[in-house]
Amino acid sequence: MAKKLLMINPVQQVEHQEFWNESAVRIMQYPATNLAYLAALTPPGWDIKIIDETIESLTFEDADLVGITALTPTAPRAYAISEQYRRKGIKTVIGGIHASFLRDEAIQFADCVVIGEAESVWQNVIHDFERNELKRFYTGEHTSLENLAIPRRDLLSNRYALKLGGVETARGCPNDCEFCSVTAFNGRKYRARPVEQVLDELEAIDSKNIFFSDNTILGYGKQAEQRAIQLFRGMVDRGLNKRWFSQVNIDIAYSPKVLEWAKKSGCSGLAIGFESISEDALQAMHKVRNLKVGVAKYKEGVKRVHDYGIPMAGAFVLGSDGDTKDVFQRTTEFILDSKVDATQITILTPLPGTRLFSSLQQEGRLLRTNYPDDWTHYDFTEVVFKPKHMTPDELMEGVTQIYRDTSSRPTSLKRAFISFIRTKNLYGTAIAYLWNRGSGSLWMQKYEYMKSLSLSQVEDASLSRPLSVN
Ligand code: SF4
Repeated sequence: MAKKLLMINPVQQVEHQEFWNESAVRIMQYPATNLAYLAALTPPGWDIKIIDETIESLTFEDADLVGITALTPTAPRAYAISEQYRRKGIKTVIGGIHASFLRDEAIQFADCVVIGEAESVWQNVIHDFERNELKRFYTGEHTSLENLAIPRRDLLSNRYALKLGGVETARGCPNDCEFCSVTAFNGRKYRARPVEQVLDELEAIDSKNIFFSDNTILGYGKQAEQRAIQLFRGMVDRGLNKRWFSQVNIDIAYSPKVLEWAKKSGCSGLAIGFESISEDALQAMHKVRNLKVGVAKYKEGVKRVHDYGIPMAGAFVLGSDGDTKDVFQRTTEFILDSKVDATQITILTPLPGTRLFSSLQQEGRLLRTNYPDDWTHYDFTEVVFKPKHMTPDELMEGVTQIYRDTSSRPTSLKRAFISFIRTKNLYGTAIAYLWNRGSGSLWMQKYEYMKSLSLSQVEDASLSRPLSVN
């Protein structure tokens, strides 16, 4: 009889469900393609089920082996699920970026921890489990991305609102920004998949909407730029007729050939990491690429991308040591004045594995240190450290004010109207509008929740999303 492998993407534990807007989460949720990649590498003889708890409920079901992935804010939930299965005598494996940096923490809650990129060791994990020789730790390598398995998308839920087909084309980043763990996790070297293999994968995806899950679809340097053009051109030549979205660095605004082919190949939205409109903040975060382009050229960059009919989401991080109290008003002014279509505004968050975490820890500035439970607060919407030039409340209030000023219904409608006039891209404009409304609504609910509790109550609040067991 086939063995059963359950793969779980846990939801973040939230203390009060009434502040949890399921529909807004679903709009913004990206499919758990990372688990589908591992499912594809699992040898024959296994029945595999993927459960993404962010969009579906998890009820205990029998399995031979349970694999759980976790980001930092979902780690407490991953541990709770893992313990529940272990109590039933079912072995568990935890992987993902959080467990990779905190292996000694993760192993307390699981039978096995996979450190780093799991693809190179996943078959060893399964093989050892089958022989009853599962080890406590496996360390994946930064292997070549040639011949990456085609993910088992057939195992992914069809409840994702945007029905995005997730495709990864490259890994690694040479930049090592202070707040980001990508360089430590995926390495400094930019590793790109062969274009023809990416095109083959795209061709096999039914969904019209594609999300390239790379940190930047443009990559870094001239060679990567040529590869991006080759990829987009290939999509046109093969007549794939996709509508795609991706994250990208600001350099794309100054690569007209890339923008031209991006548009021709169906690009309907780019998320660009502006990070800050303050060069002091960019310095503090070591965001060298943005400093090279210069904040003064951001607005022109938005216009250049719009000129190719592509709407964009600008990502901003608030709270670095370079930020002073006037940064909130200046950020709002930039968002509205630059006509950037959608915005993602987050609070600087020191994730394990980053230089930011190490320095704040050394300086004694971390506010939430009751680990692992407190990891749930490291979700980019809470202040978990003492900012340098303002209080935690001022930082929270400042970001909330940006959301109030940029994502209310009238303002979002006005922004959508301008987006459509500038880009003539109806679908991208609609997504930008939904994004603004969804992220604004999620933020305001979180803010109301934070306001409803004093800090001491927050610290005492019990985690109230139990794993239901039949
Ligand atoms: S934020 Fe972007 S550019 Fe900076 S290290 Fe992370 S992936 Fe690289």
